[in-house]
Amino acid sequence: MPKKVTPIEEKLRRYSVAENGCWEWAGAKDRDGYGVFGHHRGKQLRAHRASYSVNVGEIPDGMMVCHKCDNRSCINPDHLFIGSSQENTSDMVKKGRKFITKGTLHGMSKLSDKDVAEIIELRKSGLLLKEIAARYGVTFQHVSLITHRKSWRHL
Ligand SMILES: [Zn+2]
Repeated sequence: MPKKVTPIEEKLRRYSVAENGCWEWAGAKDRDGYGVFGHHRGKQLRAHRASYSVNVGEIPDGMMVCHKCDNRSCINPDHLFIGSSQENTSDMVKKGRKFITKGTLHGMSKLSDKDVAEIIELRKSGLLLKEIAARYGVTFQHVSLITHRKSWRHL
């Protein structure tokens, strides 16, 4: 049995595949360069969002659908991902540090990678969190985070 094609899927076929794998939206585009799919509940629906919800799944409330490829008119679901802020996320992906919270880049840190390694050793040797915190001039919570490896995951 062939899969039943809904009108939304039918409409989403208006694209051409570019050399780099992008699905270039062939329909109208808005002034920001995003493909315009149509209107949904009185709001303009962008083609990449329509593609994401049809091909991948529902978009969580208030979340953005971002492009890994930085091509706003692209609707290839493989190039789309959910992010909380379009600008920030695409910027981070470009710099290759999404999901990597490098210690020295981490805002709350004034510790070097060497300090962190020492802290983990001290904790293993039985020193209390508050003693370690006092020694390095950081908060108790910070030491706790480090010893649980929630930050500094690259070590
Ligand atoms: Zn693309």
